[in-house]
Amino acid sequence: GPGAAGARAEIVVDLDAIEHNTRVLSALVAPAAFMAVVKADAYGHGMLEVAAAARRAGAPWLGVATAEEALTLRADGDTGRLLCWVFAPGDDYTAVLDADVDVAVYTPAQVAQVAETAERLGCVARVHLKIDTGLSRGGAREPEWPALVAAAKKAQDAGSLHAVGVWSHLVASDEPENPVTDLQAAVFDRAVAVAEQAGLALEVRHVANSAAAVLRPELRHDLVRCGIALYGLDAAPGVMPAIGLRPAMTVRGRLAMVKEIPAGQGVSYGHAWTAGRATTLGLVPVGYADGIPRAASPGAEVWVDGRRRPVRGKVCMDQIVVDLEGDTPAAGSEFVLLGPGTHGEPTADDWAAAIGTINYEVVSRLGGRLVRRHV
Ligand code: PLP
Repeated sequence: GPGAAGARAEIVVDLDAIEHNTRVLSALVAPAAFMAVVKADAYGHGMLEVAAAARRAGAPWLGVATAEEALTLRADGDTGRLLCWVFAPGDDYTAVLDADVDVAVYTPAQVAQVAETAERLGCVARVHLKIDTGLSRGGAREPEWPALVAAAKKAQDAGSLHAVGVWSHLVASDEPENPVTDLQAAVFDRAVAVAEQAGLALEVRHVANSAAAVLRPELRHDLVRCGIALYGLDAAPGVMPAIGLRPAMTVRGRLAMVKEIPAGQGVSYGHAWTAGRATTLGLVPVGYADGIPRAASPGAEVWVDGRRRPVRGKVCMDQIVVDLEGDTPAAGSEFVLLGPGTHGEPTADDWAAAIGTINYEVVSRLGGRLVRRHV
């Protein structure tokens, strides 16, 4: 494919790993259904290819944040169940409802708007009532439930809408001992009861993301929404290896240059690092414009010629300098910025630790001029 043989740095995405992870997670959570969360360009892995791989492996649901993402999937021919969850007042639901996308709703006003749009289109909108169980992000807080549920029931009785789901999102699913999860679970159960008592026949109750899907089986309900685990990355320390998930992403390329500098020579902007002795440097043609945070040095490492090499000086817009530590691989030698870790290369978790962030942010911000190649 494009970039396969060239010097351009590339994001290689192993679609077999995506299929494998989909199967492993689907089997683990059954009889709950599996949703592949493919928002944000599938956390940097390429939305269309990942979505197709997840479908091939049997994922009945896809999940995205924005209407644009949902419509892109439909334009590509995806016809399965697809939930879209970020809307703002004034958004037009015409296109997503026309494309048979399930939508999240938080307020009675939104329910009314969705119902009117569906009526105009002559379709029945499928909505998932979003409950704020403590994250304080989207969703209806407890005092608002009766009005939300009543609005949904009214529209459902009028035939323009079907309230298929009640759902929420967790605060700290990656911390199994955090008591907030139990508090949220109790709030969620009350919300489901309110909806069911109002006569809504729910198809899917869902709260679990990747970490909860694995660590809190009782929270799987009817459907789990997995992002990070789909990509084979750890949702919480130790989760990924424990169930045999495979990281899908490798970022690789070829060194643009190899050079010697004498002792005392500073490196990159501001000379934030100075060579203590004669040093061989390798030039990695990837930078912060491709999504490598400038804060990655010191601390981050890049694999070159059999082992990890420290990043020296500031990450630049288009380039990173690494210390080859006495070895002299030729320009054009392969580097691996991050990968599954099976050959000793740094992982997304290693980069996250170096930067002071989470693996989600490391992979989802990668892009820029990196070429994506799906294998
Ligand atoms: N559900 C919602 C509402 C989300 O926003 C996300 C992503 O942040 C997920 C599920 C998937 O979470 P995770 O990647 O931890 O599995």
